[in-house]
Amino acid sequence: MAPQELRYDGQTVVVTGAGGGLGREYAVFYGSRGANVVVNDLGGSFKGEGKNSKAADAVVDEIRAAGGKAVANYDSVENGDAIIKTAIDTFGRIDVLINNAGILRDVSFKNMKQSDWDLIYRVHVYGAYKCARAAWPYFRKQKYGRLISTASAAGLFGSFGQTNYSAAKLALVGFTETLAKEGFKYNILCNVIAPIAASRMTETVMPPDVLENLRPAWVVPLVAVLTHKSCTETGAIFEAGGGHIAKLRWERAKGALLKTDESLTPLAIAAKWKDVTNYKECEHPEGPANAMELLEAAAQLPPSPA
Ligand code: NAD
Repeated sequence: MAPQELRYDGQTVVVTGAGGGLGREYAVFYGSRGANVVVNDLGGSFKGEGKNSKAADAVVDEIRAAGGKAVANYDSVENGDAIIKTAIDTFGRIDVLINNAGILRDVSFKNMKQSDWDLIYRVHVYGAYKCARAAWPYFRKQKYGRLISTASAAGLFGSFGQTNYSAAKLALVGFTETLAKEGFKYNILCNVIAPIAASRMTETVMPPDVLENLRPAWVVPLVAVLTHKSCTETGAIFEAGGGHIAKLRWERAKGALLKTDESLTPLAIAAKWKDVTNYKECEHPEGPANAMELLEAAAQLPPSPA
């Protein structure tokens, strides 16, 4: 799909949470490939405490020292307008938005405080919304935009002690899939990644030898492909980490169709359970089941046996 060396000359890329981890890798990459980079980072702890301008400044210095163009922004993603304003004021445009900033507040559901729930929501969901909302009018006007949202295996599959984070991360899938639909005719392509990489987020939960094989740099090439002008993917989810890159999709089991009358009882469904859960005869839908067609077919069926 893409040429050997992807470049982003003249484009402006905003990377949120670019002061460390994955975000830093993205920012340095774009800076080395001709883009103007907005290095956003609040500079707090991985639990979302405090703030500091040093993290973003260090990455800006690194990009500039290598001959690239970058500017720092220290706002929280909750103030997405200010982040996008930095892009417009400094470089006059915004072409790519990488919603990457994130924090953790891991705790069992039983012990979770309201503040743990609220802060995770505000950074991941509200923050991504605010940045996208501010970039959207520019994307539409110029009929070009590339947006990445960062989900997580925790959101796709669940993860012990992460109800807040899982909910927020899966919310970004629905958010991005809808943006993909709304943005398509304006050449705004929106995709989700579920990365896995060594960072301060994972260094306490994974052993050093595993972390060594999960360099954040190995997630960058996928994001590079998805945000390049040659990309045609949109509304998709990709896993990336440790050299493994894979697209993920929904699967619908064969399913059962029952007569829509009083014979549609719990027992009738139980009798058809093999079909309800039959993934051997599955489909990979890109939308909900065709309700009207199914309604008509169900009405034609004989009543389910009692
Ligand atoms: P990280 O902690 O190294 O990087 C996150 C960055 O976001 C930090 O520099 C932090 O200061 C910044 N940030 C936090 N809150 C912010 C806010 N309100 N406004 C602006 N910046 C803020 O972690 P990472 O592993 O590089 O994570 C990057 C993204 O990838 C996150 O969204 C994370 O949830 C996601 N993710 C990471 C992994 C992994 O294996 N590392 C797995 C799944 C998802």
